Amino acid sequence: MSSYRIHGATGEWEVVIGLEVHAQVTSAAKLFSGASTEFGAEPNTQVSLVDAAMPGMLPVPNAECIRQAVRTGMALEARINPWSRFDRKNYFYADLPQGYQISQLYHPIVGEGEIEILADDKDESSAKRIGIERIHLEQDAGKLMHDQHPSFSYVDLNRSGVALMEIVSKPDMRSPEEAGAYIRKLRAILRYVGSCDGNMEQGSMRADVNVSVRKPGAEFGTRTETKNVNSVRFIMAAIEYEANRQVDVLEGGGNIVQETRLWDPDKAETRSLRSKEEAHDYRYFPDPDLLPVELTDDFLTDCRASLPELPDAKRRRYESVLGLTPYNASVLTADVTTARWFEAVLDSVGEEHAGRASNWVTSELFGALNRLGRSIEDSPVSPAQAGELIRLTADGTLSGTLAKQVFEIMLETGQDPGAIVEERGLKQTSDTGAIDKVIADVLAANQDKVADYRGGKDKLFGFFVGQTMKAMQGKANPAVVNELLKKALG
Ligand code: ADP
Ligand code: MG
Repeated sequence: MSSYRIHGATGEWEVVIGLEVHAQVTSAAKLFSGASTEFGAEPNTQVSLVDAAMPGMLPVPNAECIRQAVRTGMALEARINPWSRFDRKNYFYADLPQGYQISQLYHPIVGEGEIEILADDKDESSAKRIGIERIHLEQDAGKLMHDQHPSFSYVDLNRSGVALMEIVSKPDMRSPEEAGAYIRKLRAILRYVGSCDGNMEQGSMRADVNVSVRKPGAEFGTRTETKNVNSVRFIMAAIEYEANRQVDVLEGGGNIVQETRLWDPDKAETRSLRSKEEAHDYRYFPDPDLLPVELTDDFLTDCRASLPELPDAKRRRYESVLGLTPYNASVLTADVTTARWFEAVLDSVGEEHAGRASNWVTSELFGALNRLGRSIEDSPVSPAQAGELIRLTADGTLSGTLAKQVFEIMLETGQDPGAIVEERGLKQTSDTGAIDKVIADVLAANQDKVADYRGGKDKLFGFFVGQTMKAMQGKANPAVVNELLKKALG
């Protein structure tokens, strides 16, 4: 990756970044209760007695959440800890009825791992490995809403007790771009694994952004932590802002204090929330209501067997086995929905047409979806229809131009390409008799240009091709037109 530097009055500064990502575990029920986790329900309709912390209620670990955390760890090539434990993190807040959050401080379920990022999608030599420190499981808190007129505060406990994975990176990133690439890659892996939907707008994934600056090669500087940043763009902007702010402070003779900050998206700046001196003492201790988590070999084997092909492996296979260009392989594997869609096209048209199919998806389909403002999930054409269109191009029934026309009609009507071709007579013709007849007409109508061409104006060849194609309403096979025209003019 090209190195990112801040140019200060005293020289160049390097940025050091570590991210703590909270990812909501995909699970129908909460971490320690059977209440639903569905997004968008009426406030306080998904709250069990455990989530409301009624006296005497006991938490019961949800095996599915544990399984998802383990699968995620495996996908990040991380060490899985067969023995882990839940701790209580004690603090008082109105969105936390228990008065503590159940988390894992001392013995997390997943240890060290790593993620490979590419600065440049098209270039494997831009790869860099970012270390993962740990992943632990913890409960989410409820949500407070404040009303000014009159001044009331409301609490919604639907999120209370929802399982989160906290994925902590090492301080290995050195630029906003690397942090952006890391978050996108992590989100892609979580979505492939199916352990988190990665939906940052709905709060399923958010990051605490740790930033410090130093002179290149010096010891790490003091970091600040900007809490709960909820989009890739904001994470990158918060790093940029915070690094420049720290350089200004240091060059002005000040010190960076270790503190928690907030990102203000409207002002595009970070603001101090509390300093280290005001930091909570969470008085962590092992939760006496819960036994340690012990993972059996069978459970681990099942978790590993359930992992799908992951994005890096898929990208490499698309290049080496399917023969796709690095660009197409990277674009098609960046998101699991796109990869599944593309593979459904291959199921229909056959892997021998993978190259043609990859070009069609990345240019024609993506172009159309862009124009329509749709995502591939609600593509107006199905993978099977796309496969049929690609087959009709591969077998010569449709020229490139005709395929584009047929695709436009598919987008408008939802019809199958075969039916469109039949109904509208859009087949490409290689009938040399018919094409020769049209060529003769074109040459007769443009005798001056024929003379010019024969006199050496080679460029006019394109004009004759265009006239012939036009007269044949785009249905002539371009290769045949070229060949017959050369003969007629030669
Ligand atoms: P804590 O437990 O106090 O939150 P950690 O040592 O676990 O602290 O680090 C939390 C996050 O801060 C990690 O993602 C880590 O990579 C990052 N981090 C640690 N030191 C620095 C630093 N000097 N600059 C930037 N990020 C850092
Ligand atoms: Mg922290």
